[in-house]
Amino acid sequence: MRWSKTLIPTLKEDPADAEVVSHKLLVRAGFIRQISRGIYDYFPLALKVIRKIESIVREEMDRAGAQELLLPIASPAELWQESGRWEVYGKELVRFKDRHARDFCLGPTHEEIVTDLVRSAVRSYRELPFNLYQIQTKFRDEVRPRFGLMRGREFIMKDAYSFHTDMQDCRREYDNMFETYKRIFTRYGLQYRPVEADTGAIGGSLSHEFQVLAESGEDAIVSCNLCDYAANVEKAEAKGSRPAARDLTEESPQLVKVSTPGKRSVAEVAEYLKLPPEKFVKTLVYRIDNNDFVAALVRGDHEINEVKLQTALGCREVALADEAAVAAMAGVTPGYLGPIGLSLRTIADFSVQSMRGAVTGANEANAHYTEVDQERDFTPSAFADLRMAAAGDHCPRCDHGLLEAHRGIEVGQVFYLGKKYSEALGATYLDAEGRERPMEMGCYGIGISRLVAAAVEQNHDANGIIWPLSIAPFQVLLLPINYNDKATREAADRLYDELRRRGVEVLFDDRDERPGVKFKDGDLIGIPLRITVGAKGLAKGCLELRWRRDGKTVEIALAGAAQTIHGHLAQA
Ligand code: ATP
Ligand code: MG
Repeated sequence: MRWSKTLIPTLKEDPADAEVVSHKLLVRAGFIRQISRGIYDYFPLALKVIRKIESIVREEMDRAGAQELLLPIASPAELWQESGRWEVYGKELVRFKDRHARDFCLGPTHEEIVTDLVRSAVRSYRELPFNLYQIQTKFRDEVRPRFGLMRGREFIMKDAYSFHTDMQDCRREYDNMFETYKRIFTRYGLQYRPVEADTGAIGGSLSHEFQVLAESGEDAIVSCNLCDYAANVEKAEAKGSRPAARDLTEESPQLVKVSTPGKRSVAEVAEYLKLPPEKFVKTLVYRIDNNDFVAALVRGDHEINEVKLQTALGCREVALADEAAVAAMAGVTPGYLGPIGLSLRTIADFSVQSMRGAVTGANEANAHYTEVDQERDFTPSAFADLRMAAAGDHCPRCDHGLLEAHRGIEVGQVFYLGKKYSEALGATYLDAEGRERPMEMGCYGIGISRLVAAAVEQNHDANGIIWPLSIAPFQVLLLPINYNDKATREAADRLYDELRRRGVEVLFDDRDERPGVKFKDGDLIGIPLRITVGAKGLAKGCLELRWRRDGKTVEIALAGAAQTIHGHLAQA
């Protein structure tokens, strides 16, 4: 493609609203533009990257035995009511009415739609198993769309759904998809890690996320330094936080009420009392399922994990209660809350069990208790794993290793769903004995547009993007230093034709621009291999070949240049 005929609206400055490097570079390099919060135009270069990402997905999904189809974006409310998610999904689901006042939504994911298709199309065990996938635009009205393509409201996803007669076969396909995902992300040239994951709004009982490792990632991951355990912190079991067995012969000193004027947070009170945060019990009041309240207790140096809290309580939704609600219930602001004498159902993290010499709020303004003894002074209704796993915790799997912390961008997730949707929607088959049974299901997503951002997060330098060859918009940037020079023009035009004839994807910078501008733009958009054609080199019968990633430069002969370049690409 000739640059002069391609829409590549590069900018001199980073966009003011961009926080992460992929957002900055993709806008500055003329790949994307936001038209509304979390909704983007994809310019030609971006679409080329997307098509490459998609074609690797297609090749590997097809190789794994899946079939591509295409489902509608608009889906009727009835299906979501059948599964129960019309109520559960909340504001992320964009709902609308058609002209006949019938309810619809924009698909954020397609379990309902595909299950409906399968229940009407499949009768017998002989027709199972199969795996159906599509690549399609999804809409989720995210609370916080941000970071460019990383968290959009409208985005492109590959979603796949598999159907089986029994659990073993479904688990086989789960493993098949797991391996397929490893091949896909390896082909993209990205550094990634599969991690154990929570199942969230999709549901099911077993799940892994594929995380591209990057500092800017929104997900916190922990992994063992010895074994291959790795998990999203939402899911990671927190181990090694139970206190050692108590010495029962030793009595705790008396409870002491101390004055802590104006000190509310653990950090403030800890400094004021000269006691370490791990001596504290934090009391957090949550509103559950929009009606009831529960107090959750975690140690002062730990962070509560709301996913675990929700699981422990067996509820649909947990939300931290606001100050007014806490004040109305306990008569104090949250900073002075404590479990002693609190008339509220209380659930505590394992690490709070048997604590002695602890500090808690006194349920009275400007006061805390010290010398709190959990067994003597308060009794939660249950103990559970409620906290975030953290770096330095013992590995819950091998017990010898310690957990390390990383950040990641979730680019894919696989779920074993079981019968959740097939039972809700009545997707059944007749087994060999003619009995009707619900199907077993799995589902498997990949964030196609998020991958564009993830690739840039991992592959850039101060000058711009460095596309991995397998997903670059073009393989080669052909850059004549002065396209108005006759000899340069002839050589460059000829090479452009020859490269294209060999199937090499070339962006030909035929613009009438200063060389400095061309070099800069070329580095910014990140084409892996640059071929520079200049009068000086041509006089010696040479061209310059330079890799964007490491700046490695070699001179190659003009004669047979197309073949040489083709060879370099094949070896890369
Ligand atoms: P997240 O936890 O990041 O909100 P999710 O777990 O809700 O994502 P899934 O339902 O697993 O997302 O969707 C499959 C894939 O689609 C994700 O792994 C991710 O790569 C991508 N994806 C999800 N939400 C978005 C979004 N708002 N913008 C871009 N890609 C997204
Ligand atoms: Mg997910």
